[in-house]
Amino acid sequence: MTTNEELFARACNVIPGGVDSPVRSFRSVGGTPYFVARAEGAYVWDVGGRRYTDYVQSWGASILGHAHPKVVEAVQRAAADGTSYGAPTEREVLLAEAIRDRVPSCQKVRLVSSGTEATMTAVRVARGFTGRDKIVVFDGCYHGHADTLLAAGGSGLATHAVPGSAGVPASAVADTVVVPYNVVPDIGDDVAAVLVEPVAANMGLIPPVDGFLDGLRAACDAAGALLILDEVITGFRLGRGGAQERFGITPDLTCLGKVIGGGLPLAAFGGRADVMGCLAPEGPVYQAGTLSGNPLATAAGLAVLELLDDAAYAQLSGRAAELAAGLTQVIAEAGLPVSVPVVGPLLGLFFNDTVPTDFATSKASDAKAYAAFFHQMLDRGVALPPSPFEALFPSLAHTKGELERTVDLAAAAAAAAIRIE
Ligand SMILES: *Cc1c(COP(=O)(O)O)cnc(C)c1O
Repeated sequence: MTTNEELFARACNVIPGGVDSPVRSFRSVGGTPYFVARAEGAYVWDVGGRRYTDYVQSWGASILGHAHPKVVEAVQRAAADGTSYGAPTEREVLLAEAIRDRVPSCQKVRLVSSGTEATMTAVRVARGFTGRDKIVVFDGCYHGHADTLLAAGGSGLATHAVPGSAGVPASAVADTVVVPYNVVPDIGDDVAAVLVEPVAANMGLIPPVDGFLDGLRAACDAAGALLILDEVITGFRLGRGGAQERFGITPDLTCLGKVIGGGLPLAAFGGRADVMGCLAPEGPVYQAGTLSGNPLATAAGLAVLELLDDAAYAQLSGRAAELAAGLTQVIAEAGLPVSVPVVGPLLGLFFNDTVPTDFATSKASDAKAYAAFFHQMLDRGVALPPSPFEALFPSLAHTKGELERTVDLAAAAAAAAIRIE
């Protein structure tokens, strides 16, 4: 039987860093990533046959739990009819209608294949619609890896961005302004759009403070700029209508991904009919995709949405609250500083005493404590995100008993982690 170590060594020979997406590597916690052989419900099994209770859940793409029978069946049935045509299909219409029903600000929707495409194109549409170039983003938010959005901010002040990655020319981020999260910035009349995660879920989990999202809406209206909510994580996760429903805010454009594809490559963006009317072939803003609205992905997405009713969200949120309370208690009892913010079904795990409100305070979390706790949990069969800056994604398949077991294991893991640290 092959092992994680053997596969990782082979992977590193042929794939940079041994992984196809850097968050999968164990760079920030150390060690060898587990290679998944299969998954079901709340669990993944590695190639050595070890089972882990999985809180990564494809970074939020899997809300029902892995390999849900309804999703598997929908994908199998779709695959038998062909995997891609390059012509429109009925399910694309059904899925676009299902999105509009749940997220009414999406009067028109376009399906794409990744969150990166969704945010990249939403920004292009906003620039095309307004005839302006500047965009405003928030330090610590993640919007995929398009050049314009791989921008790093300065030291907490409103700054013109510097490239956030080698290979991104300064010119690509020259019109990107990076400002601190949770503070409403001045929006000039040269700004095309403000792009924001309504709940920041890529620097741990950071809820919006009161007045932040409303303030952004008002500032955009005053400046004639568009408000783009990046709901790639929060969409269909916080509730049927996502963060915009929860916080009562109407964006001009919305980006969706992760949950909507049920674990297949699918994402979407949508918004005001007049703004979306800028898109080719109706308007002058170009966007396209060979695999956009893929038949397998739309089948999975429709199957997932059908199962996400109010009872499902109540269950997810109730259990996340219990998990957060349990983790907070046992980690604190072990003597580690901890804060576990929760927004509906999402939770974060910071090893510091105060709840972070922006990237600077998020980075104050003890990364060494996280790494030690992560490995103690992994040794006990619980897979947390291998990075201190990610959210936890308990699914509908995580039973009450399973979460209680996680809390019990966390008590032992925290006690062991503090000895290592
Ligand atoms: C994951 C993510 C993206 C990028 O989506 P991909 O499908 O990985 O390209 C964009 N925005 C947010 C908020 C995300 O969490």
